[in-house]
Amino acid sequence: MCGVVGAISNSKENLSIEVYRGLLALQHRGQDGAGILSYDDEVGRFYQHKGRGLVADVFKENQFSQLSGKIAIGHTRYTTVGSNSLSDLQPVVQGHPYGLGIAHNGNTLNYLSLVDYLRMESGTGFTSCNDIELILYLLGSVMIKSKKHKPVERLAEAVSSLGEKLNGGYGVVGILGSYGLFAFRDPHGIRPLCLGKRVEASGVSYCISSESVALNYLGFEFVKDIAPGELLFISKDCEVTSFNFSKKSVISRCMFEWVYFASAESSVDSIPVYKARLVMGVILGRRIRKMLERLEIAPDIVVPVPDTSRTSAISLAETIGIPYRECLIKNRYVHRSFILSDQEKRESAVELKLGPVKSEIIGKNILLVDDSVVRGTTSKRIVSMLKKYGAKKVTLVSTSPPITHPCFYGVDFPSEKELIASNKSIDDIAIEIGVDRLIYLEIEELYQAIGNDLCVGCLNGSYPTSTFEGKTFANHRIKESKQVAGALI
Ligand code: 5GP
Ligand code: MG
Repeated sequence: MCGVVGAISNSKENLSIEVYRGLLALQHRGQDGAGILSYDDEVGRFYQHKGRGLVADVFKENQFSQLSGKIAIGHTRYTTVGSNSLSDLQPVVQGHPYGLGIAHNGNTLNYLSLVDYLRMESGTGFTSCNDIELILYLLGSVMIKSKKHKPVERLAEAVSSLGEKLNGGYGVVGILGSYGLFAFRDPHGIRPLCLGKRVEASGVSYCISSESVALNYLGFEFVKDIAPGELLFISKDCEVTSFNFSKKSVISRCMFEWVYFASAESSVDSIPVYKARLVMGVILGRRIRKMLERLEIAPDIVVPVPDTSRTSAISLAETIGIPYRECLIKNRYVHRSFILSDQEKRESAVELKLGPVKSEIIGKNILLVDDSVVRGTTSKRIVSMLKKYGAKKVTLVSTSPPITHPCFYGVDFPSEKELIASNKSIDDIAIEIGVDRLIYLEIEELYQAIGNDLCVGCLNGSYPTSTFEGKTFANHRIKESKQVAGALI
């Protein structure tokens, strides 16, 4: 997963500072690298700066005067495919036609076959393993050949053609040279994107972001979520035009945005993330209350694994009337930028990141709440830590249903054989993790909390697009990205 931001103003200079702040608000969506691209109409050129690491480390204060212009886009990278080399960082830009720069959040399933086809058809070669370069190429090549008169019409034709070729989930922001800012979202709405507006005495500005948290942070009013299959174009005079580039598709929003990925302050597709997490806790709480009545479990306290699951743990504790306690404190200064390459390092990262509150753990029967169990590594380490410090019993509650299948659309889930739930019963998973009992939110309950139009491919293997090329894609992903795999907490 990654975060994207784009901003344009008809009056303000230097939108790169706004984009920088927007990226800070989206830092949780990716910590491997960041970049900003601006277009300065006065001089007719693009400026860019990209680097590995956290947003605040990549940009220095004096850089923004060089990233001049009234249009800018930015990206914060979470490596899922491709290495984390400089050539894989975004945004990417090409000078012809019109000057076209883009950044995206998502994954292309048929990346390899498209690249092979282009190589054989026209000898095209790419400089990175990143699908953003392919997307830029595909957009540019249609725009060059287009018979349409206006650049924005050529762009709409190119996006429409891209929508037919690309199999995947994507939220793209882009700059069309001296013409304006644009954004488009995949026809299934797998990846999120929203639009905000700010009106000041001096003029109007627009901002596009992966999540509404960045709009709030920058003082933009939320206007709308970009619809699945919609292309938005905002001219340099801040006139907004909308195009529908795909025929109606089944909406399949990624459930993991609400479960784990999005910031608690955001609303994704107008569903508040915090509220969805509260509801998940209440739904689980109602089920657990019955288990308490039947004396199946007898927890003394409800404990979240910080940070994401805190919201659900609070409402769960309220629903069952058992005290909520924080027994694990996250050290906010230990970052993923520790490059954790293998399983051993991944495991020790849990103890580096989460400090136990011994006084609250000792002698307790703990109902531990986490957002998800992927490989099981995190839960295993946390449970053994809680037991080491004197917990009598641990019941684990996951606010995600069992993750049994890979994600092909941008969430960094491993291959099926690494997923702890892919071929085990819940009781066997509990034994492997070392908990006394394991309780999962059910898929039906997830629908109740968030809505029916979700992508739950990782939960039941039913994906919104063809995953025929999924296996090749997964192998490619493992080969390319393992050197940069980070701690999962
Ligand atoms: P596991 O150790 O089971 O493989 O991973 C589960 C943990 O990783 C959970 O605590 C969850 O919060 C976290 N997690 C789930 N998905 C992601 C992700 O895409 N990136 C990161 N950094 N953590 C994740
Ligand atoms: Mg976690």
